[in-house]
Amino acid sequence: MKEDYYDILGISKGASTAEIKKAYRKMAIKYHPDKNPGDSKAEEMFKKSAEAYEVLGNEEKRAKYDRFGHQAFEGGGFGGGGMNMDDIFSQFGDIFGGGFGGGGFSGFGGGFGGGRRRVKGSNLRIRVSLNLEEIANGVEKKIKVKRKIQAPGTTYKTCSVCNGTGQVTRVTNTILGRMQTASPCGTCSGSGKILDKKPEGADAQGLKMQEETVSIKIPAGVEEGMQLKVAGKGNDAPGDGVPGDLLVAIEEKEHSSLQREGDNLHYDLYISVSEAALGASREIETVNGKVRIKVEEGVQSGKILRLRGKGIGNLNGYGKGDLLVHVNVWTPKTLNREQREFFEKMADDENFQPNPEKSDKSFFEKVKDMFS
Ligand SMILES: [Zn+2]
Repeated sequence: MKEDYYDILGISKGASTAEIKKAYRKMAIKYHPDKNPGDSKAEEMFKKSAEAYEVLGNEEKRAKYDRFGHQAFEGGGFGGGGMNMDDIFSQFGDIFGGGFGGGGFSGFGGGFGGGRRRVKGSNLRIRVSLNLEEIANGVEKKIKVKRKIQAPGTTYKTCSVCNGTGQVTRVTNTILGRMQTASPCGTCSGSGKILDKKPEGADAQGLKMQEETVSIKIPAGVEEGMQLKVAGKGNDAPGDGVPGDLLVAIEEKEHSSLQREGDNLHYDLYISVSEAALGASREIETVNGKVRIKVEEGVQSGKILRLRGKGIGNLNGYGKGDLLVHVNVWTPKTLNREQREFFEKMADDENFQPNPEKSDKSFFEKVKDMFS
């Protein structure tokens, strides 16, 4: 019997999104493997809570789970703790945001099973601010990043504490007899090597800061708060370790006239009473330049014109969203005498009486249609 996700996180069924996040953040910090090296119970709790959060932290999955329980996800995805550590760490973007600057957690070096551990360099975090055009079409950004690299001329030698094995064993005499425990070597962080010679300007690990231009391919359809990973562009690790990753948090700049809703865009078009009556041709801004649209004579306020494929590219490659142009008829707020006389004359005119037909559905009915 699988444990209840709410129980794992220690929260009630009615917990808010913020409470769920908070609970998971607490668990992730408490059971983080970097803090509990070699503790398999902690690792299990770490994985369990990540799995629970993967579901409860997502509105759609949570709703499914509330209805069907664990059965909702059987056969697909993470049945028996199927989340790997990479998945878990990629979750951290939305949990910790940019709060863990400077590479607080180092990720995993491949476990201790085989003795020596490949040390991983720390991750770097940056924010990239994108405008709507860039989000709609995808963009390649060249960004200057300051990362630690191995200083040329640095040499390493075998760690004398562990003799290069990366592990130290300790023998203790207990009432149960001699006990031997192995743990990663503290002197070399389990890598088996320590610094031998380093050039001037390098730090104690033989690393030095260098500014580098990193090219980041950002796919269309990303959203505020998403995090992209550029593997290997974090800080170098000393010795033969692997470099950390560059984690890129996405920020969305607001557009002056277009509003985003998922892959669709909305635009408010204001036309005059005369334009509504006579018809009009207007140029509007899109994420791919300007387009001219035609408003038919007799158009009603609240009409929505759908420009197919003029929205945002879908993140998963499912085409593009639409641009929805909302027609708003602008009623003059004041009238001069002549205008007042004109409208008074028209007040009883049959042609000016509202007479909506089915095709002139109200705005709300149209919205209802759109989402059903
Ligand atoms: Zn050592």
